[in-house]
Amino acid sequence: MAITVKLIHKSGESLVGFVIRLASSNGLLSVRDLITNSKLTRFSMAKISKRDSLWFSNLLKRDFVFESDIPLLKNNRFFKSWRLTQPKVCFKCLQETGVLQDKWQHMHCLKCDIHDSSFITACPTCKTPLQWEVELLEGRCTNKECEQLLVDKNSNIPTLSSMEIDDCVLLNRILETQGNCFTQQPVYCDIQDINQVLSSNYQVLNNKVLFYDQVIKPIIKNSKCLYAYPSNIKLFSLKFLIQHLNKAWPILSWLADYFKKEKQVPSIFESYPEHWMRMQDIEEVLKFSREDVNQLYRKSLFKSKRDQYFIKGCTVIEISSLFYTLLGNSTKNRHNYQSYLKIHNKIKAYHTPIFAIIEAMISGELLYHYSSKHTLLESLFFDEQELIEFSKNWLLAHTSTSIGLDDFVSIFDVGESNIDALNKSLLLPDKTKLYRLSKLKRIALPNQLHRLIYKN
Ligand SMILES: [Zn+2]
Ligand SMILES: [Zn+2]
Repeated sequence: MAITVKLIHKSGESLVGFVIRLASSNGLLSVRDLITNSKLTRFSMAKISKRDSLWFSNLLKRDFVFESDIPLLKNNRFFKSWRLTQPKVCFKCLQETGVLQDKWQHMHCLKCDIHDSSFITACPTCKTPLQWEVELLEGRCTNKECEQLLVDKNSNIPTLSSMEIDDCVLLNRILETQGNCFTQQPVYCDIQDINQVLSSNYQVLNNKVLFYDQVIKPIIKNSKCLYAYPSNIKLFSLKFLIQHLNKAWPILSWLADYFKKEKQVPSIFESYPEHWMRMQDIEEVLKFSREDVNQLYRKSLFKSKRDQYFIKGCTVIEISSLFYTLLGNSTKNRHNYQSYLKIHNKIKAYHTPIFAIIEAMISGELLYHYSSKHTLLESLFFDEQELIEFSKNWLLAHTSTSIGLDDFVSIFDVGESNIDALNKSLLLPDKTKLYRLSKLKRIALPNQLHRLIYKN
């Protein structure tokens, strides 16, 4: 069809939002008069495809480039992209600007940074999920029977970390699909009312009785969805796990009771040990690298049991000795101690891995306080100067270190034009010479560079 009014794409605007504005500017009452339903769904999903961009260029009579802010998470276990397919909006922004922002569709993004109010995916008045329709541009409900201006309703959405949001969404899939959710990894997330999903599943995750009745029991009974077995602690917030590491892990005692009563137990559950964590969860939740895990494993802070090392194709590792040891060597919290996360940015440049810091903590070389109340890295408190001094010395004592390209660029503020200058000033031997940034995957960064920068 011929389009009379052509528009300019606004900064941060989502593709589907742009299409809706285009439809509205051309006097169309529904965006479906401009494009078909199926195409609309595809637009709400991702970056524009080659074919769509040609279609757009033709339609708008100019070159059209659309870049999404939302990264595609190809390695995500549950979804390939954390983008909701249904509209999630700040109605205040819409009422002020009429522009649908692309970043709003990210599942981890729950609040508008301008208005500090929660995003909504359903009309607070009539409870109908919002659709991609022209009424959105004015901040109105898209249900033709309602069409009310979207308003503030006090919602009880807890403040959630990204990890907790993932847990809630995972749980939603487990419950909705009755444990059959991992046969196929969906590309996009089609939750209709995200706030409702978050608040109800957060309740289940944090209530022992609900969790046992709704998650553990059905899993044991049906032997479905092994990923949701309680030793997959990714299901819990780590805060919850660590608090319970000091006590009997309640779910395990429930399980023990359950096993006593039920004779028919699938064999995989029989020898399931205590505080196990899957390798990829250790990386994701504790933020350890493979190298960190290997080193800590060598120091017996992580353990594995023969024959049980691999369970259902996953490497699982026993982690409680790390936490017990940290707790055992912890000193009193001093007033000058600061959270590791706060200091982390300052020591990042020294590229001292966390395993080295943990070894020093346990050998008594570094004093620290371990509060065991939060996730691991949030729970560690240090004297800032002492930690920086340690990191500096660690770096200088090791012959070379390897640094990721992203870190390298952000720490040293390197652009393409600096590469030549760096090569010259560092007198690097040919094989360690830095090449064009775009071609580098990892850089073996010689100590020379660090020495140069941190010699004072
Ligand atoms: Zn806003
Ligand atoms: Zn409504």
